[in-house]
Amino acid sequence: MFIESRKLEMLHKIPVVKTEKYWKGLEEGKVYKAVCKNCGEEYYPPRAECLCGGEVEWAEVEGEGVVEAFTTVHTIPAGFEWHKKPYTITIARFGNVRVMGWAENVKVGDRIRIKTDKDETGVWKVYFEVV
Ligand SMILES: [Zn+2]
Repeated sequence: MFIESRKLEMLHKIPVVKTEKYWKGLEEGKVYKAVCKNCGEEYYPPRAECLCGGEVEWAEVEGEGVVEAFTTVHTIPAGFEWHKKPYTITIARFGNVRVMGWAENVKVGDRIRIKTDKDETGVWKVYFEVV
């Protein structure tokens, strides 16, 4: 037995002071990773500081990646109701980092290129295209 409650609506507010370049990069068609100036560790999603305590710098994720995993979402989660059909989220390796993005018709091992675009709600996201 259930008692119907209020519909819950959430809006994520993400602090971007140290990661603003990443978010601006998406608008310029660029996807950035963070690289530690001290130990060389690479991070995606980017981190504002390295685990070693070193300062990080930005580097663009470029070239071709390889699809390592993907999942197609059939039960559309809250916040994505605008997406009327199932969609596929893909994880691809670009050198030392794995990047998550949206893609269609992918399979493990596919070579892909990274790009950015706005979705139907105006949010910039990472997409992959099979090469
Ligand atoms: Zn480091």
